[in-house]
Parts: sequence; C-alpha cells; structure tokens
Amino acid sequence: MKYDVIIIGAGLVGLATAYQCLKKNQNLRILILEKESIVAKHQSGHNSGVIHSGIYYKPKSLKAKNCLEGYDSIINFAKEHDVKYDLCGKIIVATSSEEIPLLENIYNRGRENGLQNLRYLSRDEFREIEPHCEGVKAIKVPQTGIIDYPGIANKIKDLFVALGGEIEFSQLVNNIVENIDRITVITDKKEFITKKLVSCAGLYSDKITKMTNDKNDVIIIPFRGEYYKLKEDKEYLVNHLIYPVPDPNFPFLGVHFTRMIGGGIEAGPNAVLAFKKEGYNFSDFNFSETMHTLTWPGFRKIVAKYGKTGLGEMHRSLSKSAFTNALQKLLPEIQEQDLVPGGSGVRAQACDRNGGLLDDFDIVRNGNIIHVRNAPSPAATSCLAVGNTISELI
Ligand SMILES: Cc1cc2nc3c(=O)[nH]c(=O)nc-3n(C[C@H](O)[C@H](O)[C@H](O)COP(=O)(O)OP(=O)(O)OC[C@H]3O[C@@H](n4cnc5c(N)ncnc54)[C@H](O)[C@@H]3O)c2cc1C
Repeated sequence: MKYDVIIIGAGLVGLATAYQCLKKNQNLRILILEKESIVAKHQSGHNSGVIHSGIYYKPKSLKAKNCLEGYDSIINFAKEHDVKYDLCGKIIVATSSEEIPLLENIYNRGRENGLQNLRYLSRDEFREIEPHCEGVKAIKVPQTGIIDYPGIANKIKDLFVALGGEIEFSQLVNNIVENIDRITVITDKKEFITKKLVSCAGLYSDKITKMTNDKNDVIIIPFRGEYYKLKEDKEYLVNHLIYPVPDPNFPFLGVHFTRMIGGGIEAGPNAVLAFKKEGYNFSDFNFSETMHTLTWPGFRKIVAKYGKTGLGEMHRSLSKSAFTNALQKLLPEIQEQDLVPGGSGVRAQACDRNGGLLDDFDIVRNGNIIHVRNAPSPAATSCLAVGNTISELI
C-alpha cells in the first residue's frame, strides 16, 4: 500500500486538510487513519458549536488569520452543502466597571482584525436583545453564529471520499518509522507506506509528534469542559449567545450561554483538569496519562501560577450551586433547579516545559512530516483555512 499523503485523525482539522489537499490535486492518493469508528468523535463533536468571528485573537496570529479566512469558508461550505447554521450574533458583557477596560481591548482587537459592525451597547440596549442579562456595558458581535460541526465533518468526509480519498477507521497509530524514501505508519492492525504524513491527532498530538521527534518539548494537558442545559421552560431566558469578558490569562475560561443549532440552550463550559485524555466524566481516570501530566515540569509551574483558578474550576465542577453562581453573574434569574446536566468535551491544551500554555495554533514541519501540535478553539471554525494552509505546505 503506497500513499502520497497519510493524515492521522478524522477530526475537523484532519478531514479539512485531507479534503483541501485532494481538491487541489485529484491525482493524489490520500488516506486518513482514525482510531475511532466514526469521524469527529472527540473535540470536533464535543464543542460549543459556535462559529467564532475572530474578535479575540492577537492580530496577525495564526488564530486570527485562519479564523477570519475559515469563517468565510465554513459559512460558504455550509450554504453550498446544506449544513445547518445560523448567524445569530452574540453579546460580550462586562458585569462590572472593572471589566470595561478589558471589554474595550476586545473591541479594539476586533476592529484591528477587520470585523465590521461591532457596536458597544449600553445596559438598556443589550437588554433589548437579552432582557434577562445583567451587566454594565456590552459589545454586540453580529458575525458570530452557531453550526452543526458533526454535520460539517460528515459532509467533508463524504466529499473527500467522493473525490477518491480513503479513510480507514479503527486504526490506532502506534508508531511511525521514517526512511529516506518512505514513511511507514504502523497501527494496531496494519502498516501503511506514504511519501508525506500529517498528524492532526488533537488530544494525542503530543504522543504522535514524539514518534518522529524525540525532543518534542510540548505536551497536551487535557481540560474537560462541562455543560449544563437550561430546562425547556427556562429557555426564554436566553435568546442567542451571551459571553462574559474573558480573562486574558485564560481566554478559554468563563462560562457562557449558547443557543445550540439542534435546539436547546447550553450553559458552560468550565475547564477542569482531566485525569484521562478522553475522559468525559469526572470519575474517568487513566494512570499513565495522569502521571504524564503531573510529572511534566511545565505542569508544576502552571499549578504554582494558576492553582487557585484551577481549584475554583474544580469546585464549580463538583458543586452545581457554585456553577449556578458563576452563571448568575450574567443571568441573575437563573436558579440551580433550572439546569440539568448537559454534555462535556475535553480541550487539548498544549503546554511547554516552562509552564507556558500555547495560545496560537502550532503547526511544525520537518521534511515530509507535518504535526499539528496545538489546535484549540477556534480550530473548528478555522478548519477549512487550517486545512488549506497545511495543503500548501504539503
Ligand atoms: C469544550 C470545547 C468547546 C469548544 N468550542 C468551540 C467552538 O464553539 N468553536 C470552535 O471553533 N472551536 C471550539 N472548540 C475547539 C474545537 O472543537 C477544536 O479546536 C477542534 O475540533 C480540533 O479539531 P482536531 O481535528 O484538531 O481534533 P479532534 O477533533 O480531537 O480530532 C483528533 C482525532 O485524532 C484521532 N486520533 C488521536 N490519536 C490517534 C491515533 N494514535 N491514531 C489514530 N487516530 C488518532 C482522534 O480519535 C480524533 O478523532 C471547542 C473545544 C472544546 C473541547
């Protein structure tokens, strides 16, 4: 078996990369290897379902560039292939006057990133959109939307296969051997030979990168994000998307309210250290994965710097009333009994040896091998642009 390109991982990034490559050159023989039996089983199928506008990201970063390009691509793709989406807009709300400078930074960043029609809203103005929301000032981001990401993933898979691409499910990649003229990818069942290799393995990107680069100095720390759902008779409390002002140290923290494309309103996610990479429940535990995190020098530095924040997240995970308190900052009327447990997802957060949490997308190339080492939010929004960037590298 000889391929031009093998891609590890059938999440949105791997699928979009494979599809963009094949669209550029239909003579290529491309194979995706996925350890699960379906596409989008992990981050790509367990997220908030939001199409991000690009307002938060550092100008000129890979996140900003790919989110802005990916935004247009994913909307055009959804339109063309009939995948459900809705550009419902969101508000980012400062709940105290201390948060106003941070809110203004976000507004300015959005303008720098070229977002049109951003608008400050006074309390009275944002309460016309979200009458139950509380705060002092807000930004209206009309570009933000919601979408069916598993629907996008399945559609990309179908188009890729229709163009002659191949996918092998239930193939867990265990090793990669690089020779001068070929790369051998060894799974738990078979061996595959290719000229070029791209890994888009999400939560296991560190493990796969290490197979070809012993000196990889970044690991993935898994952070579970847990959601509650609003009971149906309380859905009237939220019209669209309501977000808090993010902490610049932890842009992924801060529970928000999201209307889902399939119906219902979700509240969350928090961010709790997971003791298993694909551990969707609090009690999920994997000894070697936990030790991998705990013994990483960078992790100890994170604990020293941000331990208190982490404990707060843990507390909100174990205590529904603490989770409700956090939500009441934005929506004072919400009560514990209005919430039922929702789903969860696990974020793959890359962390370096010095305790730095990699903020930007991180794609490393060494000869014929490309590893996507960090593809956190907004990588779902950006997937077609990231796939295009990687296809150009190939
Ligand atoms: C809670 C949460 C909320 C989020 N909300 C949003 C949002 O609203 N909007 C947004 O744009 N982004 C959001 N994100 C981020 C987004 O979901 C991810 O950035 C994106 O899905 C990453 O895609 P991926 O393909 O890199 O990873 P994944 O979807 O995790 O795919 C990786 C794939 O690799 C496979 N794999 C791993 N190891 C192996 C191996 N050894 N052999 C074979 N296959 C392997 C896995 O099984 C998996 O299918 C959120 C993420 C989370 C967790």
